[in-house]
Amino acid sequence: MSNSPADTILKIENLAVHFPVGGGLFSGARRVVHAVDGVDLELKRGECLGLVGESGCGKSTLALTILGLQAPTRGRIVLDGHDMSGNGMDRMARARIAQMVFQDPYSSLNPRQTVRRTLEAPLRLHGVTAASEVEDRIADMLKRVGLRPEVAARYPHEFSGGQRQRIGIARALILKPQIVILDEPVSALDVSIRAQIINLLLELKETLGLSYIMISHDLGVVEHMSDRVAVMYLGRIVEAGGWETIFTTPQHPYTRALIAAIPDPFRDNRGAKITGEIPNPLNPPTGCGFNPRCPEARDICRAPPTPSLEEIGPGHLVRCRRVRELAV
Ligand code: ATP
Repeated sequence: MSNSPADTILKIENLAVHFPVGGGLFSGARRVVHAVDGVDLELKRGECLGLVGESGCGKSTLALTILGLQAPTRGRIVLDGHDMSGNGMDRMARARIAQMVFQDPYSSLNPRQTVRRTLEAPLRLHGVTAASEVEDRIADMLKRVGLRPEVAARYPHEFSGGQRQRIGIARALILKPQIVILDEPVSALDVSIRAQIINLLLELKETLGLSYIMISHDLGVVEHMSDRVAVMYLGRIVEAGGWETIFTTPQHPYTRALIAAIPDPFRDNRGAKITGEIPNPLNPPTGCGFNPRCPEARDICRAPPTPSLEEIGPGHLVRCRRVRELAV
């Protein structure tokens, strides 16, 4: 059954997720949003892959598809050696491998459920029913996320935002998954407690041998946590590479603009800032999807087809026709 190298926990090949919209009586022709459009990605065991890009570029759709909560239009997802297409694993089996920590710890916990109930529900659903084992796993997980086991009897409103996110992390980890998708895990928290949660996530990654996909608008957090970074634009990866390469020598004009926008007095931020809006995905530009906003765009960038992702250095991939001319 194993068809991916042992050090690869997730392999995504040519994945597309398209949403047909319109086509009603008054809304005209049926059109298609290409939310994810031909994504290839690999996640190694024990690594943190940062997934960045502006709102609407397809990050959440990609995450939901990995978790089996959204059906792909085409492509292949291989999770821990198991091919998810065709007769792939069902959602229950997938949940034991991959879980998600949500952005907002205020809305992602059920206010009517105690912490115990929140943590025992997935255990029971997955066949862990012996009372002593349930109790032990809940106590162990609460300790791992920095909470006392006694808090299991309390309700979400009795906790601070940071404590609630610790409960959200405990819920994601209670089934002992190998991959955790972190969807903006600290952006809803006070700045003062963000570092605590980031450090907790890094510690859990080491002690439990987890692999992370870290979705974030906050490139500072991505720079701190990620081993590798993939930059998405209009449903496609436009640049991917080791974190140091991406943050010190970004090559795609979009990545350069994102990095130039990081507020950091110690960084050389003279690169062009990004302007304009992300195009309507129902009417994407021809050629390179970034060309209407790109300060480096020339006629060649506006001509079809979409440029392909090219390896310009070891593990460094860039989707830009002018990448060699613009190299820094
Ligand atoms: P954000 O950072 O705001 O969460 P994102 O990068 O995660 O954005 P997605 O939420 O994946 O982006 O959305 C990608 C595109 O797909 C957007 O244009 C969005 O409007 C569209 N989209 C997402 N879900 C659907 C859906 N169910 N039906 C139609 N269009 C959708």
